[in-house]
Amino acid sequence: MKIENPNPLQWRFSERASQMQSSFIREILKVTQQPEIISFAGGLPSPATFPVDMMKQAFDKVLSNNGKVALQYGPTDGYMPLRQWIADSLSTNGARIVPEQVLMVSGSQQALDLLGKVLIDEGSRVLVETPSYLGALQAFSVYRPEFMSVDTDEHGLIPSSLDKVAQGARLLYALPNFQNPTGRSLSVERRLELVETCARLGLPLIEDDPYGALSYKGDPMPKMVAMNPEGVIYMGSFSKVLTPGIRLGYVVAPLPLVRRLELAKQAADLHTAQLTQMVVHEVIKDGFLDQHIPTIRELYGNQCQAMLKAMEEHFPAGVTWTKPEGGMFIWVTLPKHINAMELLDEAIKQKVAFVPGAPFYANEPETNTLRLSFVTVAPDRIHTGIEILGKLLAARV
Ligand code: PMP
Repeated sequence: MKIENPNPLQWRFSERASQMQSSFIREILKVTQQPEIISFAGGLPSPATFPVDMMKQAFDKVLSNNGKVALQYGPTDGYMPLRQWIADSLSTNGARIVPEQVLMVSGSQQALDLLGKVLIDEGSRVLVETPSYLGALQAFSVYRPEFMSVDTDEHGLIPSSLDKVAQGARLLYALPNFQNPTGRSLSVERRLELVETCARLGLPLIEDDPYGALSYKGDPMPKMVAMNPEGVIYMGSFSKVLTPGIRLGYVVAPLPLVRRLELAKQAADLHTAQLTQMVVHEVIKDGFLDQHIPTIRELYGNQCQAMLKAMEEHFPAGVTWTKPEGGMFIWVTLPKHINAMELLDEAIKQKVAFVPGAPFYANEPETNTLRLSFVTVAPDRIHTGIEILGKLLAARV
């Protein structure tokens, strides 16, 4: 029997699904994955940093010693020894975080969706930085909030500007370390002020921190969750310090919220794979990250320097950019009349790609901005790519 389906398919999607938009970056990545393109577009960590052998040995060990547990269903909240490790590593400066506050998730991206599900109703006010992480805007959008942009300056989010927008807000989403997309970090003073202000306003403060460990020089900055574990929701990830392919992240929150997130996660995927949680615990439990992370910092620091140097050399006056001290991104501001989307069309013709800044804005976009990622391109190609961009810019300033 041959079954005929209507063409085009006439199924009715939910209003929610009808409004979903693909991430602009994922769309660009489709174009830029061709090998001849010098791509500063992706937000991918460098595969040179992936500890393949360590992972291989750990998979082998976990499967040999504990295979029956690793391959079984597991608890929704996660693998206890790993949750304990995370709680201990965040219990700094006198703060005490208990493993029950840690929920393991399938990449910290899942935490954004779960937080949206648990904290946002249609029309709820959600406070975000300008610009902010596109994947968070995308995740929260599904729950149809009213986004409000909090004022920022060259030092990041301005805590004193919160009072005027926080009325009735459900959450503030903040990226204090080497922000995606700008590479900026918040000073210790601003962190303290932010934590105090949110506590005073009764506003849940989300601290999204996948890049915090990747400072090129000096110790990582203090975490806001350690300043106030009862008022901050912390999101961490193994994507940038081990590998993103294992899809392992975590959210740390006050107990009543963790319980809600756990229920939301149960409905979404029951739990994050036991096997990967056990393998990651096996890899990190004896201090592996203490040796591994410095190698990532060194590589990324050098790559960043290569890009900054090339920009100094080739970008015309009138173009400005951030000088990150860690992480994976540089943010560029062009003269107002240059539209980065149009520049991208020209750049792709010359085999260079970047991400225009507009999609990172929840509200009014600044179309003269763009994000450059430097970690996956070799220094000589960084130089060539920046030179090409510099020529395109020089013709427009
Ligand atoms: N937050 C930020 C700021 C990010 O840049 C990313 C990844 N690009 C994520 C969250 C999600 O990371 P993952 O799901 O891989 O943990």
